[in-house]
Amino acid sequence: MTIQWFPGHMTRARRQIQDKLKLIDLAVELLDARIPLSSRNPMIDDILLNKPRLIVLGKSDLADPRETEAWIERFKYEGHECIAVDASTGTRVGEIPDLARQLMQEKIDRQLAKGINPRAVRALIVGIPNVGKSTLINRLAGRNIAITGDRPGVTKGQQWIKVGKEMELLDTPGILWPKFDDPIVGYRLAMTGAIKEQILDIEDIAFYATRELINRYWDTLVERYGIEEERPEDTEQADEIVRIMEAIGRKRGCLISGGRVDLEKTSGIILREMRAGKLGRLTLESASTY
Ligand code: GDP
Repeated sequence: MTIQWFPGHMTRARRQIQDKLKLIDLAVELLDARIPLSSRNPMIDDILLNKPRLIVLGKSDLADPRETEAWIERFKYEGHECIAVDASTGTRVGEIPDLARQLMQEKIDRQLAKGINPRAVRALIVGIPNVGKSTLINRLAGRNIAITGDRPGVTKGQQWIKVGKEMELLDTPGILWPKFDDPIVGYRLAMTGAIKEQILDIEDIAFYATRELINRYWDTLVERYGIEEERPEDTEQADEIVRIMEAIGRKRGCLISGGRVDLEKTSGIILREMRAGKLGRLTLESASTY
């Protein structure tokens, strides 16, 4: 698989975040609620060291609510505070400052006991590209801020963004790389739009997307496209997946000469509709199997 991240990029990204750790009280780790595993940086524990952490499951408006609840439980069980939000409309984003403060409560109480007036809790948002960092920062800030990633060699004074009285955010998020060890991770990132389609073959992405839909959301697939096919018994068989893709293509009139199905066009339709939420709220990774 073609990857845009090279070891040098990863080292630089890691250093950029670690330089900021001394400025902050806690990190906000932003994940995609549809793919909490694939959108998670594999080295996150090493990178954030022992900083208190709030896990935010973003794009939860597109994810399966029951699965999201299970993920929240899972992360809490592992000792992290966790909340699911929709940063595009702002749903539950307003609870983040309170949670951040709760995470720092012990320190705040210690300061109060010494007669020190605690300052606002300082946080940094970290996550992979396209997970929704800028959207979340803008929501928390309550206004649009031009957010640029850190560029190597460009030193820029850090700006703090006030989020109410109790929280301050660094205006440049920490950009992390996704996991690449398992090829399916790349396809899941492409399905959800986190990495550009051009990097992988569109028919391959749609192939894996259709397989996930058959395995996890068969009824939704049947309902959306009105297909009358038998459910494939073995989704490890590639021709079984293609059979379903072709049935979808025929239903949508994606035909080429000789009555064959235009798989490229069909793939475009499946991916577009999946990303736009037309197939309902979908989660591709379950907390229970992790
Ligand atoms: P960044 O690269 O991490 O800063 O990601 P952006 O903030 O630029 O977001 C990437 C895309 O995801 C944009 O099209 C956003 O509108 C969209 N997005 C971000 N958060 C949400 C969310 O909670 N729900 C939905 N539906 N879309 C979101």
